[in-house]
Amino acid sequence: LTFDEFITHWASERPDTVVLEEGDDAITYSEFERRSRKIVGMLKGRGVEKGDRIAWLGKNARHYFELFYSAARMGVVMVPIGWRLAAPEVAYILQDTGAKILFLGEGFEDMAARAVSELTEKPELIGQVDAIAAIDKAEEAQFDPAGPDDAVLQLYTSGTTGNPKGAVLTNRNLFSLRIPSQEEGQPWSLFDEDEAILVCMPCAHIGGTGLGVMAMGAGIRSIVQAEFTPDGVLDGFEQGITRLFIVPAALQMVVQHPRAKTTDMSAVKYVLYGAAPIPLDLLREAVRTIPEAGFLQCYGMTETTGTIAALPPEDHSLEGNERMKSCGKAVAGVELKVIGEDGEELPRGEVGELICKSPSNMACYWNLPDATESSLKDGWMHTGDAAYVDEDGYVFIQDRIKDMIISGGENVYPAQVESAIYGHPSVGEVAVIGVPDDTWGEAVKACVVPKPGTQVDEADIIAWTSERLAKFKVPKSIDVIEVMPRNASGKILRKDLRAPYWEGRDRQVN
Ligand code: ATP
Ligand code: MG
Repeated sequence: LTFDEFITHWASERPDTVVLEEGDDAITYSEFERRSRKIVGMLKGRGVEKGDRIAWLGKNARHYFELFYSAARMGVVMVPIGWRLAAPEVAYILQDTGAKILFLGEGFEDMAARAVSELTEKPELIGQVDAIAAIDKAEEAQFDPAGPDDAVLQLYTSGTTGNPKGAVLTNRNLFSLRIPSQEEGQPWSLFDEDEAILVCMPCAHIGGTGLGVMAMGAGIRSIVQAEFTPDGVLDGFEQGITRLFIVPAALQMVVQHPRAKTTDMSAVKYVLYGAAPIPLDLLREAVRTIPEAGFLQCYGMTETTGTIAALPPEDHSLEGNERMKSCGKAVAGVELKVIGEDGEELPRGEVGELICKSPSNMACYWNLPDATESSLKDGWMHTGDAAYVDEDGYVFIQDRIKDMIISGGENVYPAQVESAIYGHPSVGEVAVIGVPDDTWGEAVKACVVPKPGTQVDEADIIAWTSERLAKFKVPKSIDVIEVMPRNASGKILRKDLRAPYWEGRDRQVN
């Protein structure tokens, strides 16, 4: 299926249902269908054709989603650019994609001008007010709809491990995975017509844009918030949102917000969370704070158009539940395997690299044929994540292979150590890294942001961790830091924490 088919379908089946809502502004499926043809008219009038790229620099906005869905109908590829990036990073993406037009969200004119000044081939810049005026004036245009395998979206990876890479995603990619479900017909894979999804994660990531696409595919309403704030999410609960997707760092801010105790959350059916490892104690706290909701963990990557494995609500019971450490089972239509260093499939229970075959696997990395070839082999996406799969098919992500610490010949996965330390009463946030060590090769170090009003005692945290983990996993040292370095998706930048310790040395990664 394609954007064009979904938009036409819902405009006739649910003409009066709202597709996109932002603040007091809303547009229904039938209104949007007509407006969308005007947007196509506006794009065509500016010489944009199928296969061309257009970009968006701004916070989440109804206007962005309207541009994206409309461009996708005719096979023009949208490139949303993270608004927290610095001007040279924005310039890099514009240069890489060769976008013809850069559409701007409110307040991004200066940033765009700075970014574009460095380019030899400059895109046309159109601010939000001008774009909306141009759309209002445009004629509804005819177009040749894009097919299932035409590219419609180019999303850059989060840049957690290196430079962001542009993942080229097609209609088929985006609509193959609109529901994180192991089988059709599970309750959370079905949407009631009156549901509303909160889109609060940045649209430059699959957890933002992808969620809007999921809602549009299901013919329901997306409530778009410009950016994530814990108050915004709590307001959303009070407005009756039924689902949302949120990353662990944001979930922590929501459940630890003083308002969380008094907010009416009874409308929420499902809380989808993922994109980074979640400490077990945080997950338990979240389940206790929002008891009305079914929790669904999502595991996936930009290159797989989001979720490829999901942990269903029934695996979130609070007592002695080993499965809560898993990111779940492969979703419908996805095959997962764990391979060893020579590419051989490993038996259940053994840790290796997780690989994935899925109709949601990206077409390619833009302009990176070598990277495409090494990550997509025979249709299998190599995730770069170390994992094992248990007898029942549950996937246990250990961590990124690049972040694994080898200490005295033993493999230590930082996420597991972080999860153990996180429960300590004086720990607000924690990241675990490997630092050079003459005896052990690498030594485990924890970087801790203290909980407000508490003092971190190194020996106490080490003792706490020793009670919970094997000796070789226990940090040899603790650094107290003020701010956790994170990227726009809230992911911890361990490479930045590692950098000062490895200056002038090469860190071996397998
Ligand atoms: P880059 O590829 O540029 O370094 P990135 O990998 O962070 O950045 P994304 O595509 O946003 O970019 O993230 C995918 C990665 O996020 C996965 O490979 C995995 O390491 C991590 N991840 C996603 N979901 C989960 C989850 N539920 N639990 C643990 N880790 C997760
Ligand atoms: Mg990645």
